[in-house]
Amino acid sequence: MKTNPVLPNEQISQPRQVEQVVAGKATSDGAGVKLTRVLTQPLQRRLDPFLMLDAFGSDNPDDYIAGFPDHPHRGFETVTYMISGRMLHRDSAGHEGLLESGGVQWMTAGRGVIHSEIPQQEEGVMEGFQLWLNLPGREKMSAPWYRDFAAADLPRFVTDAGVAVTVIAGESHGVAGAVTRDATAPLYLDLHLPAGTRFGQRLPPEHNAFVYVYRGEVAIAGSAVPALRMAILANDPRTDGLLIDAAMDARVLLIAGKPLNEPIVQHGPFVMNTEKEIHEAVNDFRNGRLLA
Ligand code: MN
Repeated sequence: MKTNPVLPNEQISQPRQVEQVVAGKATSDGAGVKLTRVLTQPLQRRLDPFLMLDAFGSDNPDDYIAGFPDHPHRGFETVTYMISGRMLHRDSAGHEGLLESGGVQWMTAGRGVIHSEIPQQEEGVMEGFQLWLNLPGREKMSAPWYRDFAAADLPRFVTDAGVAVTVIAGESHGVAGAVTRDATAPLYLDLHLPAGTRFGQRLPPEHNAFVYVYRGEVAIAGSAVPALRMAILANDPRTDGLLIDAAMDARVLLIAGKPLNEPIVQHGPFVMNTEKEIHEAVNDFRNGRLLA
């Protein structure tokens, strides 16, 4: 068992403000999986390069048991982070992986995959998140890529204040995440903040950033962000990062990235730059050419 390093909290002198607090929309997807769409389509431009964040969490098997049978994707990446539960991934590129509690699955759909995501449990809690990260136009037709990371393989550290940090993507306090991406520079942290702690993270001011609170409540620059809410952080060129304060025990996702500033055209599971490319994706899928 490796021990996690203890690192001094990053010093932030000009923290970002909260621009908006968002509740998300209850919906269902796949074969009837109940979930909350936290990052919805109208926010794709504001939160470029992120296209979607779904939160799922239930102890009622009827809410998740059917999972997500075979379906296609093209043009972006999906990042699934399992807090609790077991889900089996299989895709047309030959990748297979069992995602278990605390694990992450990173799939680059590129020019196309058909995959399934099926729960491997008939009872108990299934809780987690799926984030969609856009690809730049020049990489949308790249070869598919897949990796999964068990909980024990994810980089972690603890700040001297006592905040436990899992670095899924990007870099925090000098610790490199499981995945890095040049074009979008995604930062994806899971933070466990004990009551009375503060967490600081440096962040380029032009990067779009949001915090999703999934346990407890936090304050960001004096604004309260309750459980099951997403705070969109303002982009202000004078800022150097963000500060998160927890008066009670809290768990949050901190997600940030460099905007692509390209046109975003989505049709269901396909996200491209133009309508023409969407028509090609739909035609390729209908004609069995998605994977060619
Ligand atoms: Mn999928």
